[in-house]
Amino acid sequence: MSENVERTSIDQLTSGVRAPGERRDATSEGGMGSWVEAVGREAVIACDRLVRIYSTAGIEVQALQGLDLLVETGELTALVGASGSGKSTLLNILAGLDTPTAGQARVAGHDLLTMRTTDRLGYRRSVVGFLWQQTGRNLFSHLTAAENVAMPMRLAGLRRAKRRSRANELLDLVGVGYCADRMPAQMSGGEQQRVAIGIALANQPAVLLADEPTGELDSESADQVFGAMRTANAELGVTILVVTHDPQVSAQVRRTIAIRDGRISTEVLRRTTVDDQGEAADVAQEYSVLDRAGRLQIPRDFIETLRMRDRVLLALEPDHVGVWPDTASPPSRASTPRAAHGQGGRGGQAGREDPVPGTGDDQP
Ligand code: ADP
Ligand code: MG
Repeated sequence: MSENVERTSIDQLTSGVRAPGERRDATSEGGMGSWVEAVGREAVIACDRLVRIYSTAGIEVQALQGLDLLVETGELTALVGASGSGKSTLLNILAGLDTPTAGQARVAGHDLLTMRTTDRLGYRRSVVGFLWQQTGRNLFSHLTAAENVAMPMRLAGLRRAKRRSRANELLDLVGVGYCADRMPAQMSGGEQQRVAIGIALANQPAVLLADEPTGELDSESADQVFGAMRTANAELGVTILVVTHDPQVSAQVRRTIAIRDGRISTEVLRRTTVDDQGEAADVAQEYSVLDRAGRLQIPRDFIETLRMRDRVLLALEPDHVGVWPDTASPPSRASTPRAAHGQGGRGGQAGREDPVPGTGDDQP
């Protein structure tokens, strides 16, 4: 399982910090706070069973349904998912703009559930930078690009000369140094979004959060905005979490996480491998996310192809786990398959080849 080596799995991160004999599963009591505390030291973003319920006019919407997420310092991660899956809700919580209903969320050591209103302002000003989809929301229309970037530094009390030089440096970094003296109305949408990255980075935040920042741009401008984020990530080391619909963007990042119904469902990790001839190739591998209670989401198309419902049969093999629908006779296995739900296992029979999930060749 060399594919898994680079994976920042929750288990990997917790294993190093777990006290001997300490249990970390769904049934352990009072473990959540200490878990996030423990992993929060290694992960710049740590969410544990994060829940956000909106109640409007007596109707409850569960926008986040126990979301687990760990992001390490310096990662550039894309967040994808259907409309309404909870992406903006997650980003707003991480940005300190909204408060979770339950669970844990920690960013750069700040606990977002217990943070006081008075501390939120400082948090939003210097711990996180935020980029909205709508360019008009990111910039003051009556200030030049340089003044816009200098504004957060002014609020943080930085001296004028320092603000100016840093604003110009940031505008250069994101490729719009030539726009320094222009008003937003004199810039294209893509230029405004790159200035907005400068604004978001002004106070050297630990994390840059961007909610579909290229959603209103043509593909060339989108490329430039995303390029600016990559540069900021590479040169400043800022951790970036970007919500996007753009497959071009998600193809360019090392880690893409997919959110479904308010939880992380799958992750795609991309790595560059070098073969025996010295040829480099990009390899993308999709993973299902295993939560700390051992729950796993099986991709919808696998479930539909094999018509899985309600319960499945599991079998432990030396290097993998087999999963069968409960519609046919039990799988013939050398090992003993176990019902995922219910009592005990069902006896296996010997002499069958390994099935390949999703291909249907494991159906009798
Ligand atoms: P996404 O950004 O992935 O499209 P959102 O996080 O905006 O999804 O929304 C997730 C769910 O929460 C949706 O069903 C949405 O209708 C609901 N929702 C979002 N914001 C609010 C709100 N302020 N009040 C009520 N429901 C909301
Ligand atoms: Mg959204």
